[in-house]
Amino acid sequence: MVYLDNNATTRLDDAVLQAMLPFLKDEYGNASSTQHRMGRKANEAIQKARMQIAQSLSASDPSEIFFTSGATEAINWAVKGVAERYTSLGNHIITSQTEHPAVLQTCAQLQKKGFNITYLPVNQDGLINLEHLKSAITDKTILICLMAANNETGIINPITAVANICKERNVLFFCDATQYIGKTDQLNLQEIPIDLLCISAHKFHGPKGIGALYIRKKRQPIQLETLIAGGQQENGFRGGTYPVHNLVGMGEAIARSAETDWQTVADKRDYLERQLAKKLKHVAINGEQQDRLCNTSSITIKHVLSSELMSQIPDIAISSGSACATGTRDPSHVLLAMGLSPDDAKCTIRISLSKYTTDGEIEQTIEAIVAAVHKIRSNSPTWMLFEKGLLD
Ligand code: PLP
Repeated sequence: MVYLDNNATTRLDDAVLQAMLPFLKDEYGNASSTQHRMGRKANEAIQKARMQIAQSLSASDPSEIFFTSGATEAINWAVKGVAERYTSLGNHIITSQTEHPAVLQTCAQLQKKGFNITYLPVNQDGLINLEHLKSAITDKTILICLMAANNETGIINPITAVANICKERNVLFFCDATQYIGKTDQLNLQEIPIDLLCISAHKFHGPKGIGALYIRKKRQPIQLETLIAGGQQENGFRGGTYPVHNLVGMGEAIARSAETDWQTVADKRDYLERQLAKKLKHVAINGEQQDRLCNTSSITIKHVLSSELMSQIPDIAISSGSACATGTRDPSHVLLAMGLSPDDAKCTIRISLSKYTTDGEIEQTIEAIVAAVHKIRSNSPTWMLFEKGLLD
């Protein structure tokens, strides 16, 4: 199988697995049982993981990193945590229409509780207008949530500019960096004044079920409600025995992501896009002119349903959108927000590469997609009408 669905999840790096194995086998001590050697060893391992994550993000202190079960949990904690804690200051949250369901559904829950949510629109390149953002901020705004990179299109948001606006206007900024971290050059939290940020290890060749929330230490500390009441883990904010193996894996994976040659990944992605555009008629790359994650390609192939295309290429793992939207028949909310018609959105595939993607796999993918598209179109009355100019 050619695996090109790396925005859904990634293969575990072999070195990450090796680092994890001792903690699944012989070193099974509880990281909170520091009275004995095995507990201390587990504790040291998780402190190392915390340090690796802090270093990779250029956080000023490892204690700014809080472990969670993944990005979804971190998003729920950040957004609801801020909303509940800062209600006395305001009830307004600003986000965008193209966020991940973890943000959108969390905001929808808060809306039901009386919070006022502004969903900023995006232009056809998938970007919000910074002037719209500035004018949407009111004296009731407590939080702005914006993703660093979109999971479906790879389009990168101007997060430095957004962070600076938030700082200037004294509003907290939460950045969902789930797709960005470990898929491009490192993000520097010394330079970008993001207040809260989440990551998820399985997006960068780490294990599933583990992630983190970064909470900046400010002169006036950011207050979040306790996420899980229990033991004193994570300073009492999130109780529960540490999954040491997963934490070790996340630390190793984030450290190793810095060694990836992103230019090579970008070259393969660009080659694939060029070849598909050359060999097929009416192909559009969404967000092509924008700053995008180097591994991601969102491609609309006119009058070829992504579901049909994917069933014709069973040996190539690609996606029709985001894994979290799979199962819904609705066209992607991200593509609709960018102005694509529902028909075009349903004819869009997402291809996402990784450091493991080979030239041979790219060739195989191009060949398979081109053949499948020709076959589908040659049997399609809609395509024939479109070719004759009788249909949009
Ligand atoms: N945010 C973004 C942008 C994502 O792409 C994803 C996963 O696809 C998530 C959040 C949720 O991550 P997880 O499923 O690891 O909790």
